[in-house]
Amino acid sequence: MGDHDVPFLQEAARQTPVRHETEVLVVGGGAAGVAAAVAAARGGADVMLVERYGYLGGLATGGLIILLLTLDDGRGRQVIAGLCQELVDRLAQRDAAWFPPRQEWGREDEALIRRDQRRGLVWGHAPHRVRYSVAFDPEEMKYALNEMVEDAGVRLLLHAWACDPITHAGCVDAVAFQGKSGRFAIRARVVIDASGDGDVYAAAGCAHESAQVLPWLWFTMGGIEDVDAAIDAGAGGFRTIGEGKALFPWGATEKIARRIDATSPADLTYAELECRKRVMAEVDRLRREVPGFERAHLCRIADQLGITESRRLQGRYVLRHDDMDRGFDDAVAITGHWTKYGAVYEIPYRSLLPAGVDNLLVAGRCISVDHRVHHATKEIPACMATGEAAGTAAALSVRSNTQPADLDPKALRARLSERGANLSR
Ligand SMILES: Cc1cc2nc3c(=O)[nH]c(=O)nc-3n(C[C@H](O)[C@H](O)[C@H](O)COP(=O)(O)OP(=O)(O)OC[C@H]3O[C@@H](n4cnc5c(N)ncnc54)[C@H](O)[C@@H]3O)c2cc1C
Repeated sequence: MGDHDVPFLQEAARQTPVRHETEVLVVGGGAAGVAAAVAAARGGADVMLVERYGYLGGLATGGLIILLLTLDDGRGRQVIAGLCQELVDRLAQRDAAWFPPRQEWGREDEALIRRDQRRGLVWGHAPHRVRYSVAFDPEEMKYALNEMVEDAGVRLLLHAWACDPITHAGCVDAVAFQGKSGRFAIRARVVIDASGDGDVYAAAGCAHESAQVLPWLWFTMGGIEDVDAAIDAGAGGFRTIGEGKALFPWGATEKIARRIDATSPADLTYAELECRKRVMAEVDRLRREVPGFERAHLCRIADQLGITESRRLQGRYVLRHDDMDRGFDDAVAITGHWTKYGAVYEIPYRSLLPAGVDNLLVAGRCISVDHRVHHATKEIPACMATGEAAGTAAALSVRSNTQPADLDPKALRARLSERGANLSR
């Protein structure tokens, strides 16, 4: 039912308590939001990070999307570094990540490629190359993200859901949140929308496009006799960093009847019920039909539906497919493409800026790009890179008393490079 078909209630005007004030407010604690919050705090700003669920990582952890695709350009050169690389280092220190060693990146060795395909790290069309992509453990990732946020001095608030930005004279003054104890507001000088779905910019009336998608629901199984043999026999999963375990990226065109709007509770309810039913049927099929699965068990179904796309900002610049390999003076991140070798996008600062709201920045999968570029910029490493850029911009804005929209991109690029982000191809 569209809004024009429904009756409306008139609500009484109400007062909302301002429970917190901060310089930088980050909405959403996924890969992008964590990177934004950490970068802003390390840039010297007072930062609050607010997340609706009880853990950090968003789709990367709760969606079981436990593959960082990719940190390279497909030709053996690393293009995403900075906080994403720091996260990989932290995970690797605890044996919670697997990736090919640097000397193998870009190689066309068939045995190495087959090894990495079994881990879900090589995609696209042949001829293939070894990529710098990373498989990781989701619970370890949640903990590593907690540590990064705490070490940076970010004030974290979980279990609060952003509902309405309160805007005045082209700026977001505060954001209203809903928690169990009621509605409250957080006032901020700069707001970063890292909600994945662009909840803040949509409610602020910023231009955007919306996509309907087929939802996914990834799951893991354990107790598989010989994971590599089962994968080679066509089981359809990937080995994870846990021994005897496989990740199943469940969800495909033929398995659920219709696309959904991932911002609609009714559509999400339909998808949650349908996908779970079909995942259970797939678990039964694997046990019944695939050698090696006789004593296998279901370890975990993702807490969150896998939503590839919902809202995309139409901001001060919309990065388009034609912009592949194009250089931008205001580029604040560079990403490769997980299915293409040698395809690189520079992401301009303007793709993080909505038109018409001067102190709002956007990071992660809902930035201003077209549908095709979104395939590249939605990946976890790219989301961390745009998060890092947005957070660094927010801190610079606060320190220089300038709105993000008026910030000098040169100064921002210099600061990002100083901090270890890669801006050169
Ligand atoms: C099926 C599928 C397969 C994929 N495969 C890969 C892959 O193999 N490798 C890869 O790198 N990427 C992959 N991706 C893409 C990647 O997982 C996501 O695009 C990326 O993790 C998005 O990060 P994000 O931080 O922008 O958004 P999210 O991870 O969605 O994080 C947004 C956060 O904001 C919170 N939030 C949302 N709304 C509100 C609100 N109103 N108030 C407070 N908090 C809120 C959410 O709870 C969440 O924690 C895949 C995606 C899907 C769906």
